[in-house]
Amino acid sequence: MADKILEFVHTSTGKQIAAALGLPVPPMLKRAKAGYAEKALANSNALVGASAFGPVATAVVKALNAMGAAIKVSADLAGLDGVKQAAANAKVDVSISQADNGVPENVYVLDVTAAANVADLRLLYDFFNPRLRKVPSNSRIVVIGRPRGDSKDALAETAQSSLPGFIRSLAKESGKNGTTANLIQVKTGAENGIEGALRFFLSPHSAFVTGQVLPVVGAPKGVKITEFSEKPLTGKLAVVTGAARGIGAAIAEVLAREGATVIGVDRPADESTLGATMSSIGGIACPLDITDADAGNKLAAVAAGAVANKGGKIDIIVHNAGITRDKMMRNMAAHLWDMVLDVNLGAIVRCNDQLLAGDAFGANARIVCISSIGGIAGNAGQTNYAATKSAVIGYVDAMAKQLEGKGISINAIAPGFIETQMTAAIPVVTREVARRLSSLSQGGLPVDIAEAVTFMASPLAAGVNGATLRVCGQNLVGA
Ligand code: NDP
Repeated sequence: MADKILEFVHTSTGKQIAAALGLPVPPMLKRAKAGYAEKALANSNALVGASAFGPVATAVVKALNAMGAAIKVSADLAGLDGVKQAAANAKVDVSISQADNGVPENVYVLDVTAAANVADLRLLYDFFNPRLRKVPSNSRIVVIGRPRGDSKDALAETAQSSLPGFIRSLAKESGKNGTTANLIQVKTGAENGIEGALRFFLSPHSAFVTGQVLPVVGAPKGVKITEFSEKPLTGKLAVVTGAARGIGAAIAEVLAREGATVIGVDRPADESTLGATMSSIGGIACPLDITDADAGNKLAAVAAGAVANKGGKIDIIVHNAGITRDKMMRNMAAHLWDMVLDVNLGAIVRCNDQLLAGDAFGANARIVCISSIGGIAGNAGQTNYAATKSAVIGYVDAMAKQLEGKGISINAIAPGFIETQMTAAIPVVTREVARRLSSLSQGGLPVDIAEAVTFMASPLAAGVNGATLRVCGQNLVGA
């Protein structure tokens, strides 16, 4: 489903009309055209600051250098000290920002993990205030802080607690030209997970993710965080449910782009569409209703048989299949309640239980579930759907703790308004309001969810576990 207004205001006539009428022009988001590249920031100037020298500043400087960015420090010295020492430590060059001479940065990374009192928060102002008037379109802003509970000092916890509010507001201020702003909360000791998260947030792979907080908590037991390699899913076997169309088909395509062999699952009634989607990416079609009582065991058998030469273990499973059966609670038939609960939640739990019991997951397996902002904000007519999508958030949090010792991680993606058949069916006025009520003034595309799922399924997110990441352009609903 195309966003006709977005397309029109970017034509030459549309631009003139929008300017004459003073209409807002939603930005044209730059999305990834290919897979993750090692030197992804080769053409970028990255302004870096840090409130102190430490493992985070060092990890940031090393990561930006590995990505090929030109590392800049602020001419007015905001956040300079920590960066200078980190750069010397990592033997990386830094130079003074030339933004005032017309060479503005398009990447901003500020490490405030050492902010431990109210006065330390001044760095947020000093770093961003002089720079944000001329930010190029589709720039990337990342602030790095610590998660709640990381410090025993109440004042340090208070200072760190300012960051989610700060980043959500900055994202709302910066989104008009497609710039995103996100917060990484890295746990002490989990600093080696920063590069993967930066590779996602500083790239066009996260074009529709803004105003979000991603905790980096460290890899599960026995999992090593490896150096970046292109096509990071090479040799991995991935299962995607609901893969015949919509978001599931996009997920299958992006996983395959990054090197995975995909087993696409969908209802037997959709076998021909599923077959076409899978053959376009060299995947394996598995017509199966996920509510089948034995679905997990059947999937394990398909995986073992289809790619026996790779050990037949499942490295990635994406629980994407989902349905809506909307009715106001007072009018909802019991079978509609049961059906939505079973497809969106019961089937995920059963399937994972069977795969775990059957030892069907490979080492370092990654599970990704699809939630929804409906599960965060709630929607009239969606008590059944929202209950399941909210439960998914609790499920990944609880299961991460259970699976951590087995080396398996589990996370969720919560899509906002995504241009699919589902949202095309929304009445036109409601749809237009839903689309524009985000910091990026538009809906997302299935590929935006696919990119976020692929990040969570990949070694880039090795330090992320039990998290739910919203991919919604910071849609105001539930923000
Ligand atoms: P679609 O309805 O376009 O696709 C879902 C796919 O899952 C369909 O092919 C469907 O088959 C399949 N499916 C449904 N039930 C089963 C089952 N029992 N066994 C196997 N396959 C099944 O949905 P979207 O692509 O829009 O959504 C994908 C996920 O994203 C869902 O979990 C949804 O809740 C979530 N989401 C979507 C948003 C959006 O804006 N589109 C927003 C928030 C969350 P069939 O066509 O035969 O029913």
